[in-house]
Amino acid sequence: MKEKISRIVENFGNDAARLMDILSEVQSEYGCVSCEAVSAIAENLHISEVDVIQTRSFYHFFTEEQVGKYAVYLNNSVVSCMNGMSDVADEFQKQLGVKFGQKTADGLVSLHYTACIGMSDQEPAAIINDVVFTSLTRNKVAKLVADMRAGKAVNDMVTEFGDGNNANPIVRSMVKNNIMKTGPVVLDAYEVGLGLSKALGMDSKAVIKEVLDSGLRGRGGAGFPTGMKWEFCSREAGDHYVMCNADEGEPGTFKDRVLLTERASMVFEGMAIGAYAIGAKEGVLYLRREYKYMKALLENVLTEMRSENLLGNNILGKGFNFDIRVQFGAGAYVCGEESALIESAEGKRGEPRNRPPFPAQKGYKGKPTIVNNVETFCAAARILDRGAAWHKAIGTPESSGTKVLSISGDCNAPGVYELPWGMSISEMLTMVGASDVQAVQVAGPSGICLPPAQFDRKIALEDLPTGGSMIVIGNKRDLLKDVVLNFMEFFADESCGSCVTCRSFNMILKNSIEKVVEGHGITKDIDDMSAWSEILRKTTRCGLGQTSSNPITTTIKNFRPLYDARVKNVEYQSDFDMSKAVVESCAVVGRSAEIHE
Ligand code: SF4
Repeated sequence: MKEKISRIVENFGNDAARLMDILSEVQSEYGCVSCEAVSAIAENLHISEVDVIQTRSFYHFFTEEQVGKYAVYLNNSVVSCMNGMSDVADEFQKQLGVKFGQKTADGLVSLHYTACIGMSDQEPAAIINDVVFTSLTRNKVAKLVADMRAGKAVNDMVTEFGDGNNANPIVRSMVKNNIMKTGPVVLDAYEVGLGLSKALGMDSKAVIKEVLDSGLRGRGGAGFPTGMKWEFCSREAGDHYVMCNADEGEPGTFKDRVLLTERASMVFEGMAIGAYAIGAKEGVLYLRREYKYMKALLENVLTEMRSENLLGNNILGKGFNFDIRVQFGAGAYVCGEESALIESAEGKRGEPRNRPPFPAQKGYKGKPTIVNNVETFCAAARILDRGAAWHKAIGTPESSGTKVLSISGDCNAPGVYELPWGMSISEMLTMVGASDVQAVQVAGPSGICLPPAQFDRKIALEDLPTGGSMIVIGNKRDLLKDVVLNFMEFFADESCGSCVTCRSFNMILKNSIEKVVEGHGITKDIDDMSAWSEILRKTTRCGLGQTSSNPITTTIKNFRPLYDARVKNVEYQSDFDMSKAVVESCAVVGRSAEIHE
């Protein structure tokens, strides 16, 4: 093992900043990162074992214990559950004779639950050894188990391929794009290089001005003006970096999956334009581990762009040098936060940094860095090609351009839709064939749960901002049990643990909503949850803690009768007598109980 690990570490330049890649290779090779492996990695990188362990322990897809030869990660997020996840889980358990969280006695298969894997338009879905299996049923599970028992290679267990580049021989994935509506900015016909060649013919300041004038705002959800971010970063001295946030982990979102499959060159072109604008020579695409099946495709697109002189040295003969590498995450929702993403790309735990300084001042490797979403870079490439005024004319005055939405849940046509900003929720529901709707979860669990009375509201940064996740929830669902409880379990799992309130209150809120769902709650629990949510929002460092109570607060606000119907309207009563207990405990330890009385 020692020699093999030395070679793996050497392949990454004996660079501790590439610890994520090293751990990933070791995990794939041995099915775990054992104590022995930790020692070997630490020795080769000249860092402490604790440094290795703390990174290993942070991510879902790194394990100390060996997983099965086939490691099945089944998505248990809301939409997967809506589409029959429990039947699929039951069938895996029945076929294999082990529960989730366990491994078969022969070590062949281990079963794990995981958070949203970006397949909400084709759930239930699972990842087996980095290969995605979608639209699972009991019959399909039986076939998968038979294949595993027969020792089939996981890739050979995929018998049907998806559309577009999913069917490319270097991808061979069953994932479907489900592009339901194309728009003018991102999913319109595209020719690589047009935007970049125009940008390189301009002064870098003029490129920033073009993006500013276009009104483009970050498509990851926060909506910060892209040109402004680039301008702030360009003012800083020294080396600069460009990072693309392709860690779409918000349950219910999957549009970046489709953009990376069908518009990878557009993403890379946008990154090159951003690099030219701020003066960067290196870029990193940080891609969630769940999308590892795209690795060969993305590497291939990068190679093609280098051969077309759109990346590399002296790009298009203009003396501009820039190249990109792909960095994989390993399963951690919080890494979608830009400073956590940077920490992770540097090989560390994905813990958000204190701000200021902002990444535009001090980001990757401590240097000024722009971090933008996949869709933002696509839009930037198109804007440089077609012009700021063209982009500004689409959408609403405050939200120009289009938004690519991932729509899933109780509707006839789940998939990816590129729409000009400004469409109302009711128009959206008609478009996707959704009727009998109880609620729409806008912007994923960290967003808001919208009731029918507000379906005339607009999808726009000035009204309903969203990174793209839209989950339609039909009237047949138990909103508190099927949705709110699932979301709170997710946040309790995904808190990085740095802030005391995020670490503890998410768990307390999860327990409280569970108590209400199980019929043990009283009215005061609702008030307590509201008060604790407020504390959580105000006392946490990053967006996760600031929004993680939204599933509870927005449903208390918009669906209060559902809570009232479930709780008992009584004062809390307990048979426990504190004074008596103190006297008894003092008697046990031989102390006087007088001062307590
Ligand atoms: Fe970590 Fe939560 Fe604090 Fe964010 S708010 S830094 S996720 S503990």
